[in-house]
This record gives sequence, structure tokens and C-alpha cells, in this order.
Amino acid sequence: MIYMDNAATTRTAPEVVQAMMPYFSEHYGNPSAIYSLGSSNRKAINEARRTVASFLGAKQEEIYFTAGGSEADNWALKAVAEAYAGRGKHIITTKIEHHAVLHSCEYLEKQGFEVTYLGVDRDGLVDLGELEAAIRPDTILISVMFANNEIGTIEPIGGIGDIARKHGILFHTDAVQAFGHLPIDVEELHIDLLSASGHKFNGPKGTGVLYIRTGVKAGSLIHGGAQERNRRAGTENVPGIVGLGAAVARAAATMEERAAKETAVRDYLIGRIEAEIPYCRLNGHRTKRLPGNVNFSFQFVEGESVLIMLDMKGICGSSGSACTSGSLDPSHVLLATGLKHEEAHGSLRLSLSEENTVEEADIVVEELKGILTKLRNMSPLYEDFLKGRN
Ligand SMILES: *Cc1c(COP(=O)(O)O)cnc(C)c1O
Repeated sequence: MIYMDNAATTRTAPEVVQAMMPYFSEHYGNPSAIYSLGSSNRKAINEARRTVASFLGAKQEEIYFTAGGSEADNWALKAVAEAYAGRGKHIITTKIEHHAVLHSCEYLEKQGFEVTYLGVDRDGLVDLGELEAAIRPDTILISVMFANNEIGTIEPIGGIGDIARKHGILFHTDAVQAFGHLPIDVEELHIDLLSASGHKFNGPKGTGVLYIRTGVKAGSLIHGGAQERNRRAGTENVPGIVGLGAAVARAAATMEERAAKETAVRDYLIGRIEAEIPYCRLNGHRTKRLPGNVNFSFQFVEGESVLIMLDMKGICGSSGSACTSGSLDPSHVLLATGLKHEEAHGSLRLSLSEENTVEEADIVVEELKGILTKLRNMSPLYEDFLKGRN
């Protein structure tokens, strides 16, 4: 099998699983308990908190554990909206956010908030001038993702942070795709809230982080007990949090090396596909791009069909055509970059880990060439195109 769907999820690293194991068995105490079986788990949680904080250049008490990236996004948007509604009810975000942000915004619109959805250019980049022009006296929050999960484009986060700071507006970033893969310093970048997810960087699924800068008013999303300094109720997921901490430590120690390996295979894949497969377009920015992201649109084919045929060859990828999620709408991200519906439907995302090799890339390109030839030869659109050309 060749696994190239690491933007959807990654394999939990063996050392992460190892670190978690004792917390399922002998260390089962409730972290809130007085006895040491419990309180030692509290120490393990705070150890993980320190690891995450130092990775972000944050303070330990600014790190909150959640049950994933979606919860962190929901929490950031809804809690800030609620806390600052007295000051204003306007939020700025982009058209290419993950649904965890977009659907939270839609929810807030129903609660009386107004949301500006910024467009992006062909490469998926937000324009800083446009962002600044969208700011109003009642703007309370800017939420722009660090890097896009479909096309891999890395947004100008430092520039956005500067603008937000200058206007006294809070800045949240969904950094789920960037965290563990790119260096992030919340001080340098003027980030006030940041979401991350364990399973996108070889940590366990169902674990996440919300960074909330000291002084930012944001209440709870989950009400109940006093866990996480009264801000996130529920008995802590001790194995998950320990695993997340181990994954962050691993990511910090290997980030440069992994990025270099992934970038090399990424650029090799992009180069071969562009050179050998006609009627394709690279989606996302060529250089301001996640190390492991490859995304192409192929004319005259359905991404879904390409995926099924790749799967028969043991290759796992993903498509921007959202049939996978039970909808016939093409990807909102690809449409925002200016693709036509049929182009967006013919897209393929290959997202790499450091385990993917050039040899695997060669196999994928060869299979892809065969699959595209077969599908295009069956396509009436392709036939019309060839006729029209002659
Ligand atoms: C995966 C992902 C999420 C959701 O994270 P979960 O931990 O799966 O809930 C949010 N935002 C982005 C950009 C993602 O890629």
C-alpha cells in the first residue's frame, strides 16, 4: 500500500503509542484526585502542556486540551463571539477555511453576527490589503487558517497578525495543517488563539489544542467540572493528552528533517506530473506550500473515479470533489481559487509523510498516467475536445 492521505490523518507514531500505553492500564487515576494515583496523572498532563507551550512560544497556562481540531475551532469562534458581542458583532474569515470554522461562522450568523468571507487569489492566498479594508469599527475577530488542508497554501500569518494587532482585533488561526510541520511562534506572529489537532502530526485521533493568549476573554464551550482551569469541562483524556505531548516532542525534534524529505518528494511528484500528464493544473501556491501537499486538477475526468482506480492499485489519495463527504458540491476551496465546477471535480490531492519515497512517487505517477488515459478515453468531454481541436 502507498499512503498519500496524510492531510486527512497520519499514522500514530510507535513512540507515541508507547507513551500512551501505561495511561490506559496502571496509571488510570482521575487527574483531579488527591491520592497520588490521580495526582501523578495531573503531572503528566502538565508535562504535555509544557511541551506544547514551548513548541508555540506560549505560556503553559495558555494551552487548553480539546477533543480535536474541530472542537478547538468551534470553541475559539463561539467563545470569542460571545465574550466580545458587546463590542461588536463582525467577524472576518476566508472562503477557504475548514468546515469547522465555516460552519461555526454560519452558526454565529444565525445568532446575529455578521461575517465577511474574504476571497483568495488563484494560488489560494489572502490579500492583506483586502483584509485590512474589510475591518470595521465593530470587527471583533479575524480567523484565517495557517495553511490550507486541500491545496497546501501557507497564508501570510505574520502580516495578518500585524494588521489585527494594529487595529486591536483578536486573531485566531486554524493551524491544524501547519502545527507540527512548520515552525510557529505565537508571539512573533501576533496570534491570539490557535487551533491544532493531534492526529495530523502522528498523534492520537480525538486530541487537540486551543491556545488562548492571556487576557483574551473566552468562556467555555463544554460546561461542567472545573478541569482545564474552569475553561473546558470533562475528565481529561489522559492517554490522549500524553500521546499528544509525545507527538509534539517528536514533531519538534524531527520537523526540519521531515520537511526536507517531504518537500523533495513533493517537488519530484509535481515535476513529473506536470511534465508527463497533459491538461493538468497545479492547485495552490508553488512555493508557499505545505511540505507534503500535492494537488492537481486533471481535465476531462472525475476525481472520484481516479481515487477508486488508484485504490485498486493500493494507493490512498483524496479528491477535492466532495462526493466523499456525501455531497455533490465541488470543493469550496478550489472554487474560491477560480476553478470551474468541472475542473474542481477533476482534482486529486496527494499528501505526503516523511515515509513516502521517490520510488513510491514513481509508482504513483505511472499508475496515474494509465488511469487518466483510460478515463479520458471513456470521456465524451475529451472526445469533443479532441474533435474541436482538429
Ligand atoms: C483536520 C482539520 C480540522 C479538524 O480537525 P479534527 O481533529 O479532525 O477535528 C480542522 N481544520 C483543518 C485545517 C484540518 O485539516
